[in-house]
Amino acid sequence: MISQKEIEKRFNKLLDEVKTNDFYKVDLTGRVNCYKCRCGHITKTKDIDAGVTPFIFNCEKCGKNSFSTFYKDIAPAQKPTFEWYRPALEQVLKMGKNPALLEHILDGGLDFRKC
Ligand SMILES: [Zn+2]
Repeated sequence: MISQKEIEKRFNKLLDEVKTNDFYKVDLTGRVNCYKCRCGHITKTKDIDAGVTPFIFNCEKCGKNSFSTFYKDIAPAQKPTFEWYRPALEQVLKMGKNPALLEHILDGGLDFRKC
């Protein structure tokens, strides 16, 4: 298992990259994504940090897989219900029990919460 010290080292390196790498130079103004589900529902999200978000997200209505429109706003009248954010170091240090999420975050991925 990855040590707390190693997590801290990798996370700080990531924060440096976020500041300097062009990949993270994204205009977050109105950066919304839509996840379309076969049930017909669209789960709308917004990014409050720059980072990687998944292609598949659980539909908020039926719980099944819904699929990203790659930041194409196909539901302009709908408000986002989830936001993607980069957790702070103290949260990341507690992610040891969820290795997949921890790796996702350390690789520049974002976590989500209700907004
Ligand atoms: Zn659904």
